[in-house]
Amino acid sequence: MDDNSKNCIFNEVSTLYHEYYDYAIKKRKWLEVPKDLEHREIGYGMLKKVDNRNISFTNEIDYLSWVLKEAPFHLYKSLSYMEHPSLIGGATKKGIFKREIAFDIDTHKTKYCSHDDSWICEECLNEAKNQVLILSEDFLFPDFGLTKNDLKIVFTGNRGYHVYLEPEDESIKNRIESWGKDERRYFIEYILGKNMNLRIMGNRWKIRLLKEFEKNKIGIKKFEKTADWKTEIDTRKDDIRKKIYEIIHNMKSRLELDEKVMDDDIRLLRTIGSLHGYTGLMVKEIAYDSLKNGQFDPLNHAVFSKFHKKRYSVKINQEVFQLTLKGEIFDHESKEIPASYLLFLFGHGIDFEIL
Ligand SMILES: [Zn+2]
Repeated sequence: MDDNSKNCIFNEVSTLYHEYYDYAIKKRKWLEVPKDLEHREIGYGMLKKVDNRNISFTNEIDYLSWVLKEAPFHLYKSLSYMEHPSLIGGATKKGIFKREIAFDIDTHKTKYCSHDDSWICEECLNEAKNQVLILSEDFLFPDFGLTKNDLKIVFTGNRGYHVYLEPEDESIKNRIESWGKDERRYFIEYILGKNMNLRIMGNRWKIRLLKEFEKNKIGIKKFEKTADWKTEIDTRKDDIRKKIYEIIHNMKSRLELDEKVMDDDIRLLRTIGSLHGYTGLMVKEIAYDSLKNGQFDPLNHAVFSKFHKKRYSVKINQEVFQLTLKGEIFDHESKEIPASYLLFLFGHGIDFEIL
């Protein structure tokens, strides 16, 4: 691809992002304005994921006009609320006084995928959805007493979901938003079973594992009665012992959670209603039920419809994995492609020309 062709594509993509934000902000109010905007840090990326951060706005109008003008390929807000969001530096300098709690589920290719880790398909997106359900129904609901109304689920625009904790009960919300780094770390390590101690099994992990033992026809009577599972496991025959450790390992590795998103004080997260610069898909809030009952299909519902109608004649100069958008399959042999697929190719650095 020569420079001319590169520039032409970049300009076209930039025009598309402007068109999207124009519509999303002026017509639909899709773009999230972070709560308590003046205490939030804003970041964005054009050529990289994050080119610039430490930006802040005192009011919604300035913020929205800035987004309309820049139309960034990646747009973020801080999870933290800060006294000085635009100061460069760590948590202390910025004066963090509160922080949203969110999980980042970021799945990789599954054994059913026929692409490498750079691509996405129905299978891995389905796995991402399942992980949201495991996180909610196996942990957040039974262990922490939350309900679906206390969660905000957001498709990230690529290979996963953000699950925000937004308890309806203000006092609980305030409490968890005042958690420090240690409390957040403890919370995620509990969910990942990292701080589980087989010598003192007493929490909900015990119930969770007992269910799995039963499914695998391992006698649970003795495990029910004791907290010292380590001793109990080690008295079992070799093959059973191996199986038990395997079950525990598998149960602990069901979730692909990005621990930094929970840990990092100055973490930025994609803004809801923006487009994901790698895929051109919308970062979209989803009702829990429509995720659970399979109504939400990211490769259909996170595609900006107007961009699927706009077509280009192209020549794709390298082999690419297939991608299905709104039921249409595209690959390097595709000659007429929608803007939605063009954004995906651009975001993945694929060599192609607009004819
Ligand atoms: Zn896949």
